[in-house]
Amino acid sequence: MGAFIRISVSTTSSCPRKIMYDKLHLPVELSEYIKRRMFDGNLHEESILAESYEKLNLRKLTVTEIPKSLREYVNVDANGNINFEQFKMVMTHPEDPDIEFVGKIDDLAAKVDTGEPVLLEAKAVGQNTWIKLITKGVQEATPYYYEQVQMYLYMLNSLGIPVTYGYLVVRNVDTKGRMYDFRWFRINADYNVVKNILDRFKALKPAYTKITGAAMLDTETAIEEIKQLQVPFADPDLPPCELCIYRDYCYPPVQTEEDVDENQVKFIVERIKQLETEVALTKQKMKEIDELKKQLKELLPDKYEKEFEDIGVKVKVTTSVKPNYKWRDILESLDSEFLKQFATTKTTKYLRISYK
Ligand code: SF4
Repeated sequence: MGAFIRISVSTTSSCPRKIMYDKLHLPVELSEYIKRRMFDGNLHEESILAESYEKLNLRKLTVTEIPKSLREYVNVDANGNINFEQFKMVMTHPEDPDIEFVGKIDDLAAKVDTGEPVLLEAKAVGQNTWIKLITKGVQEATPYYYEQVQMYLYMLNSLGIPVTYGYLVVRNVDTKGRMYDFRWFRINADYNVVKNILDRFKALKPAYTKITGAAMLDTETAIEEIKQLQVPFADPDLPPCELCIYRDYCYPPVQTEEDVDENQVKFIVERIKQLETEVALTKQKMKEIDELKKQLKELLPDKYEKEFEDIGVKVKVTTSVKPNYKWRDILESLDSEFLKQFATTKTTKYLRISYK
């Protein structure tokens, strides 16, 4: 038995780390760039699909062309044409009922001449990804998009829609000039790719179970465990990392001296200086209080209770005896190999401020 994994095919087709981060409900702060690109993606999707119909000679799929069992899950217009906006697919891993894939296709159309169904997946990409796509092809440039389409094709077939290929239709949103660069990449269904994905998630199960277990104890440990997982992409400036909400966890931003706002530093340091002076005075008073309490304890027996009504104070002394462990001695006497099992790494940043 292990943990239950639900994988969203659209966003996590090949990033096991992201699936795990999702489970930790980590705080994420989206950069302006990521926010803009996400907004751009939604903004472009509809028009990319519309352009695809025209360029690829497609028509809307009609309700009679999909199995009866699916008809209640799609929106159908007055002409019987299907809109797949609300169509969510759920598929259990064929070999492990604890792994579930959830996916939502962008569109399924039909060829005007033959009527064969064609899957459409729209992407709005930046210049870097665009260049990679046109020079290397979709499988090498963006394997996560390729796998995403393969999974959708497989899921549609398992629901009884015999679709053998799809198009990744791509718009370069960084295009200079009036018309966007637009290109489509045909992707034929390949069960071997799907089998690899299914096997990969099955193999991930023990690590996933371990991480969800670690997350119950300590988020920092769970994050470190997640970062140990190997992923096939290593460039934070390319998809899927480029727009990933967990980018800062995988690739913590490196700050340089130039990034520092000195006025802000000065403001904070001055306030620290002022507060530390106040604390020093308080500390002196605390020390005096401790001394007086010590004197009082010496004056009083092990058990004592008295209310001084005229000054509104009650004094009570109780005594308890507890074992006092010498932790330093205990740790030194333990075998270092034994201790290593409990060790985790922790990064500490030190700050030292000195006043003249
Ligand atoms: S930044 Fe990249 S490697 Fe890290 S979770 Fe996101 S997609 Fe995965």
